[in-house]
Amino acid sequence: MNALVTGCAGFVGSQLTESLLEDGHEVLGVDVLLDNYAPALKLANLSRAREHKGFRFARLDLAAAPLEPLVEQCDTVFHLAAEPGVRTSWGARFASYEHNNVLATQRLLEATMRWPEKRVVYASSSSVYGDAERLPTCEETLPKPFSPYGVTKLAAEHLCVLYHGNHGVAAVALRYFSVYGPRQRPDMAFNRFCRAALRDQPITVFGDGRQTRDFTFVHDVVSATRAAAIAPAAPGRVYNVGGGSRVSVRDVLGHIASLRGRPLELHYEDGESGDVRHTGADTSRARRDLGFRPTTSVEVGLHAEFEWMREQERRPLRAAAG
Ligand code: NAD
Repeated sequence: MNALVTGCAGFVGSQLTESLLEDGHEVLGVDVLLDNYAPALKLANLSRAREHKGFRFARLDLAAAPLEPLVEQCDTVFHLAAEPGVRTSWGARFASYEHNNVLATQRLLEATMRWPEKRVVYASSSSVYGDAERLPTCEETLPKPFSPYGVTKLAAEHLCVLYHGNHGVAAVALRYFSVYGPRQRPDMAFNRFCRAALRDQPITVFGDGRQTRDFTFVHDVVSATRAAAIAPAAPGRVYNVGGGSRVSVRDVLGHIASLRGRPLELHYEDGESGDVRHTGADTSRARRDLGFRPTTSVEVGLHAEFEWMREQERRPLRAAAG
């Protein structure tokens, strides 16, 4: 496979890139190294990929650069580039979300129209559902995003489906549910919790901690993403990608306390705007069409993230490559 991976320096994109390279595929990775967190961390995420002969990197903005020459060189497009995060999507920053999530996706789909048979796998999000009335939530549920970020992810997802309907572009959207594991973004809860636990600092928990999430280990997300690039039934469809069990934030904190071997100092603050109470994925469709089987429990995956964070705390930038 000759893959184009957008957002290749990010948390999920860098794990996907390495997984493809390790199996002998060629990867053209693109990333603008957005400042939503330290670009140095993103470059560190790429350090292993750069050791592979089959890897090339281009720093560019998908919402501005010519994209046809990139798509032309590849047979499969994995579109993971985006500005993520619910809490920062309010206010003036929304313009940046629109640019990086909506415009970037529209331009990429336009560029793919000349080669509609090329598969485009788009990383959508469980945030398109908002506070879903039914758990676990299936793909047929009417999406009602509860954050500006969720709106941009849903808009881009609709673009994928309508470019398929109108122009036959073989686009697939995967709704990832709360991804975690080594290289998780520094703004995400598990990363913040593990870092504070290792530094003996108090942990701020937004909400009462009884909110639940369908946490999904990054390697399971990578497997689903790769499967979506080859599954015959996938084009034009949307799939939930969830870890398989709902876990409360309090339970997660309990696991982190056991990993550290001491109780944690917790401070509870009000929940933040845009955060939903519960998420849970009905993954029947992904199981049927993509052969998706999440294999990593939260205990095992959290241990992997905690050990990665321990290493990162010891050797800050090298370990970021984890
Ligand atoms: P990330 O921020 O670590 O990675 C995204 C990458 O995209 C960054 O490196 C960024 O620099 C790059 N990027 C942003 N705008 C760009 C542009 N205009 N041109 C080129 N590159 C650009 O985020 P992540 O957590 O790895 O998320 C990857 C994808 O998965 C995103 O699309 C996100 O919306 C989606 N997603 C993530 C989660 C999660 O829990 N991490 C959950 C649901 C969906």
